[in-house]
Amino acid sequence: MIEKQTQPIQPIQPIIGIDLGTTNSLVAFNDASGSVLLGDDPIVPSVVRFNPDGTTTVGTAARDGAIEFPLTTIHSAKRLMGRSLDDVQADLQYLGYQVVQGDHNTARVLISTDAGERLISPQEISAHILRSLKERAESSLDTQITKAVVTVPAYFDDAQRQATRDAGRLAGLEVVRIVNEPTAAALAYGLGTGGTQPKTIAVFDLGGGTFDISILRLTPSDDTNPVDFFQVLSTAGDTHLGGDDVDHMLVQLFMNEINEQFGIHIKGQGFDASTRNALAQFARSVKHTLSENDSASVRIDLGNDRVYERIITIEEFEQLVTPWVDRALAACDRAIRDAKNQPGGDTIDALIMVGGSTRIPLVQTKAGSFFGIEPYTALDPDQVVAMGAAIQASILSGTTTGSLLLDVVPLSLGIETAGGAVAKLIMRNTTVPTKAVERFSTQVDGQVNIKLNILQGEREMVEDCRSLGEFELRGIPPMPAGVPKLVVEFFIDANGILNVSALEERSGKRASIQIVPNHGLTAEEVDRIEQESFTHAREDMTRHQIADLIANSTLDLKWIGEQFEKHKDELDEELRLDLDTKMTTLTQFIESAKSDWSSVDPNEFHIAKEALDHASVRLQEISIAASLQHDPT
Ligand code: ADP
Ligand code: MG
Repeated sequence: MIEKQTQPIQPIQPIIGIDLGTTNSLVAFNDASGSVLLGDDPIVPSVVRFNPDGTTTVGTAARDGAIEFPLTTIHSAKRLMGRSLDDVQADLQYLGYQVVQGDHNTARVLISTDAGERLISPQEISAHILRSLKERAESSLDTQITKAVVTVPAYFDDAQRQATRDAGRLAGLEVVRIVNEPTAAALAYGLGTGGTQPKTIAVFDLGGGTFDISILRLTPSDDTNPVDFFQVLSTAGDTHLGGDDVDHMLVQLFMNEINEQFGIHIKGQGFDASTRNALAQFARSVKHTLSENDSASVRIDLGNDRVYERIITIEEFEQLVTPWVDRALAACDRAIRDAKNQPGGDTIDALIMVGGSTRIPLVQTKAGSFFGIEPYTALDPDQVVAMGAAIQASILSGTTTGSLLLDVVPLSLGIETAGGAVAKLIMRNTTVPTKAVERFSTQVDGQVNIKLNILQGEREMVEDCRSLGEFELRGIPPMPAGVPKLVVEFFIDANGILNVSALEERSGKRASIQIVPNHGLTAEEVDRIEQESFTHAREDMTRHQIADLIANSTLDLKWIGEQFEKHKDELDEELRLDLDTKMTTLTQFIESAKSDWSSVDPNEFHIAKEALDHASVRLQEISIAASLQHDPT
């Protein structure tokens, strides 16, 4: 008899995904439940300082010390990768450190410290960043890492790609695949897995110092083509357009006003680097605040009782940055024109927002209206490239096939309603694209903000479902409970991206959120959730029924109670007593159900509610008649 010999299981070497950015770099890893960014603060500034003692400082500490050590702090090394001094002439004015011609016609950085002068290649500088990311991954994953997928801009030529590989090798990382940044972003949104139709995808990447627009054509795998295929139809951009420009515009505004108010020329009158550094910090923080709020305030103490104070409104900010956004759109126009000459290049099916600067709302709205489609913003725009790199890495290592993408909705989607129940708008197994609309109102008088909690799962109560995100509809004028008319719409597009929008019809207030529902879901999890819903089906249904009964009865009691107080003298004795008893009974049901839902029989509860509703018909007539008398219109 022969027995199958058990093979020792080969530990799979994890492959990490790296976004090696001009401004910021990130490392991510894709496990069974999706991509996770590694490190407490996953964003590592792409800045390296060469210290006199031969050591280096990488990341936030290096960036924050840039003003203090201008000649030894190197940022934006990515601009020099695989280029000659001639290639980078236009960049030199922005770099602030010395770049010279090195061997083989390549750009080198000249660093002078007390220990002397050193020529350093851009690959070495990038290697310091990569090594720091590798160490970060090793401590997060608690294992040695030697392989990575690294992203580069779609327009990088062979020399620039080779330089990126070399940087990896210097850092002790084998770069198993170089992936285009826009392709990685599309992978993170799940566009590269599943699906059968070819698609054209625009990736709008506005970072710290560069703007790239790429138009990709995705051809899904089929019988003749075993893998999904991304082709770059066109690229355009501006190598000196990014969030840094906005910081400069704001600093300029502050300096001009400080000059007008106090006659101080910050550059001239002995104001040191630290003041200018502080101004830049203020500018960045104002900019970030205005991505979330309608105004931001600055207060700068200039000494000698001179305080510069200012509130910047979103309108003012948007006016300031409009020409800047328009420069990005001009590049989009070129990319679209180039793509049009190619098959599939005449329509855009998806628009993905990438890069920290796309958090600026004006950038999103202007890009959306330029392309005529709702941009994808559901994933964090400064993490999406690293997430995609990690997905590519896990596909290469054979550990996963990427996120779950199906042409049906794998789990139901809904929102939280009163009492912690879930109102399902889209049921599982619905084919995408799909849309559902449902009407709601409020439970409390004078509610001016309505919170919407988006849930996924098959169970009936919020606590048993997965919350995908929350958003708030703010600034509704106070109205009695039940009066606001809230229309909630769920729309899942052909790529599985969920857009939830809420409109309060009386006030016209709107709010919306975008979510990737399948992000972080595995097929096993979907199965488990489905199983659990069967096990708990009956109990869940009762709980949901009771939550609804509590909510509806509370509203009924409130209204009937008010009218009863007003008109009880007009009712005959028998009806008055009857109503009083029935209100008390229903109140008791609510109380008991609130303290322990399982102690209440939903049928009896329902009967008590119906009984009160029937008994109150006469009261309703009286109150309507009275209101007509008061208000003859
Ligand atoms: P890169 O790809 O060039 O390395 P990132 O995509 O990380 O850069 O983008 C960095 C830029 O994004 C910076 O200019 C930063 O100020 C900007 N940024 C980050 N968060 C926000 C925000 N909330 N609002 C506006 N700009 C932001
Ligand atoms: Mg980037």
